[in-house]
Amino acid sequence: MNTFHSKNVVVGAGISGLMLCESLVNRGEEVTLIGPVDNRVQTICTWRHKDKPTQYADHLINSWDQWEFSFSNHVQKHHGNEFLYEALNGQSLKKALELRLSESKNFTRVVEPVDRSKAINSCFEVTTKNSTLTATNLFDSRPPQFGSNTLVQQFFGIVVPTRHIKEKLTYPKLMDFTLPQRFDDALAFTYILPLTAETTLIEATIFARTTVPYGALRNMAIEWLVNNSGEDFDEDMVLYDESGCLPMGNVVPLFAGNPIGLASGSARPCSGYALSGLQRQLSELTQENGYSSVTCSPYSKLSAWMDRIFLRVLKREPQLGLTIFAAMTSGLSGDRFAGFMTDNFSTVDALRLITTLPKYPFIRAVLKNDH
Ligand SMILES: Cc1cc2nc3c(=O)[nH]c(=O)nc-3n(C[C@H](O)[C@H](O)[C@H](O)COP(=O)(O)OP(=O)(O)OC[C@H]3O[C@@H](n4cnc5c(N)ncnc54)[C@H](O)[C@@H]3O)c2cc1C
Repeated sequence: MNTFHSKNVVVGAGISGLMLCESLVNRGEEVTLIGPVDNRVQTICTWRHKDKPTQYADHLINSWDQWEFSFSNHVQKHHGNEFLYEALNGQSLKKALELRLSESKNFTRVVEPVDRSKAINSCFEVTTKNSTLTATNLFDSRPPQFGSNTLVQQFFGIVVPTRHIKEKLTYPKLMDFTLPQRFDDALAFTYILPLTAETTLIEATIFARTTVPYGALRNMAIEWLVNNSGEDFDEDMVLYDESGCLPMGNVVPLFAGNPIGLASGSARPCSGYALSGLQRQLSELTQENGYSSVTCSPYSKLSAWMDRIFLRVLKREPQLGLTIFAAMTSGLSGDRFAGFMTDNFSTVDALRLITTLPKYPFIRAVLKNDH
């Protein structure tokens, strides 16, 4: 059994754990990262304001200044004059971060899952099968428990050769509602990303009170493919897949130390988008504030309030989401929509958004905190 002390210990080698390690190492701090190598395929998408430089150019799969939403009776297209929608290769980003960190003399890597962690006196003790570490600061990115009012965003995506799809998409369909709704207490849609000229990601997604079997989401993605290819489905069409389940709402950290990433509320409650929240948390990371920025919600009070109301409405009646997204996407320009999704919006923008929404369910949600 190895026993040693590290000033900073980070648990979990997902994107948050690795990015936090990089921030700390760049500040000259000594860091130990504990957890299995995270090889999961993750296509991470986010809007970026054109004025802000991308930090991840090496991992950019594609970038678009248009995106659209398909409803049963209309298609809503958005143009981004100020914002781009970008897809990053999360798997290659994690690999590059592991490599960069391994070259730092201040970095130690323990490639084992954590069995136990606890606070003792003014520090922490973390145990794996072969090591016991003590740490002054402990940051933990292991998945949190979802709060009792939190919705789940669950998705299963298949990546297929673009040639199988009849309509040649040159930009993403962020929400396609053309397949019938099929799950109780869930809003289901398909998300289609033309990753490259050769490959397209088709992802079945739900905003729901509880999860469904991943196989049901996979079948939904296949149904979209069959409807849009005119060919019979063949397993050989699937090049690879990716899946996940993100919190929409509060999370409850389960472990000792400072929660980080998804465990500290980096996922935007109304959408599950998590990368921009994590970037905000890390950009505010300072030793002086006791690292509290990584454990605080990165979203503004205005967006937190709007998200809470939105989630109350959606939780009560998930399929009302169809009407809400139809109204919201037709009432807002591409830039205003992207601004809202990235928490770059003013009170006037918020009022403009509110005027697009169906009144009765929202008034009820504002007046009554019904669960
Ligand atoms: C397939 C997929 C697609 C996504 N797409 C988007 C997107 O388009 N846009 C967006 O903004 N966000 C997206 N996300 C969210 C994305 O997860 C986050 O942006 C980012 O991964 C932050 O996650 P995290 O590191 O906080 O948590 P996680 O990714 O959940 O990482 C937690 C880590 O903890 C590790 N762990 C678990 N148990 C232990 C243990 N006992 N000991 C040590 N380590 C442990 C796991 O191995 C994992 O590496 C996506 C997520 C997935 C999975």
